[in-house]
Amino acid sequence: MAGPRLRPVLDRLAAFRAGVVPSAEAAPHLMGDNETPYPPPDAVLAAIAESAGRVNRYPDLAAAQLTAEIAKATGEPEERIALGAGSGALLQVLFQAVADQDAEAVIGWRSFEVYPLFADLAGVRAVKVPLREEKHDVPAMLEQISERTRLVIVCQPNNPTGTVLTTAEVEQLMTAVPADCLVALDEAYHEYVRDPQAADGLHLQRRWPNLVTLRTFSKAYGLAGLRVGYLLGDPGVVARLRAASLPFSISSTAQAAAIAALRVRDQLMERVERTVAERGRLRAALLEQGWPIPRSEANFLWLGLGEASGAFVRRCAERGIVVRGFPGEGVRVTVGTRADNDAFLAACEAWLKESGDQAGDPGAQGRAVSVREEK
Ligand SMILES: *Cc1c(COP(=O)(O)O)cnc(C)c1O
Repeated sequence: MAGPRLRPVLDRLAAFRAGVVPSAEAAPHLMGDNETPYPPPDAVLAAIAESAGRVNRYPDLAAAQLTAEIAKATGEPEERIALGAGSGALLQVLFQAVADQDAEAVIGWRSFEVYPLFADLAGVRAVKVPLREEKHDVPAMLEQISERTRLVIVCQPNNPTGTVLTTAEVEQLMTAVPADCLVALDEAYHEYVRDPQAADGLHLQRRWPNLVTLRTFSKAYGLAGLRVGYLLGDPGVVARLRAASLPFSISSTAQAAAIAALRVRDQLMERVERTVAERGRLRAALLEQGWPIPRSEANFLWLGLGEASGAFVRRCAERGIVVRGFPGEGVRVTVGTRADNDAFLAACEAWLKESGDQAGDPGAQGRAVSVREEK
């Protein structure tokens, strides 16, 4: 092919980015991207509007005010906080920061799809360790740690399965990982966790300078469209990650909105509570229908449909429901409004009826199995 010679990894990244964003008219039930279904509170909208009058000026390079507000909200000193244009941007910086020759990153798999892409882009070899019962398998991950390992990522809760590691499991991991290997807890869905046993990076990271925790304003704080995330960790690590970040990448509007969101935190956490309640209702109803759904601590559920995933995603789309399919593996559905969730339950019921009719097995157990095998 003519033209400049670029790295082949860019073609794989281009394929990932090719996904179409469905319009709200075509798909009234947007349950594919783990966003909150609720629009921003008035105070956040006002802060966004107010910031618009100043966009001829560069944003605050250090995002000092936002950093101070996050320090207040987390109880962590500012020197332990690095900001990014979404925690995705911080993940990319993490991979770049460890990308020495022969560097490897150990990740659980299936997990957040950008990890291996960022690894490839940075020239880091991603070592994928299969989940065990839809959960990170700590002993198996430890077996893959070598002198080449520079980064271990734990997605907590795991996207797309919703499972969590306990505090004891993360302690086991941290105790065994060499001190010169960075471990990142990606806690994008932290606010949705209700399991008291679940590990919490904020509480653990002081004990290990090589442990960092990633959080975001994209999910529970409802600012996915504005791109703000942060990392908590050792000041020495934080200073170097800040240095590696793209300057001015967090816009003044994003900074203003995130500050405003922290100030109406209680209001946002009420919505989170609603979503947690809906998660319970949705999962209970799906279990009742006969689907084997892992317990989720995030704002989404995992349907292990295997080879049937593509067909199921299309069936949902016909009903105006967008879900995320992972071909050959399963489908992730975001917990939406009550109406979204009811629409999804109806789609699941219809799917079972269809596949049940074909399989001729009306039993719940049989239905769950036929769900897995349906083409
Ligand atoms: C959504 C998500 C993020 C957050 O991405 P942003 O860049 O902050 O929008 C990070 N990690 C995981 C696992 C996610 O699912």
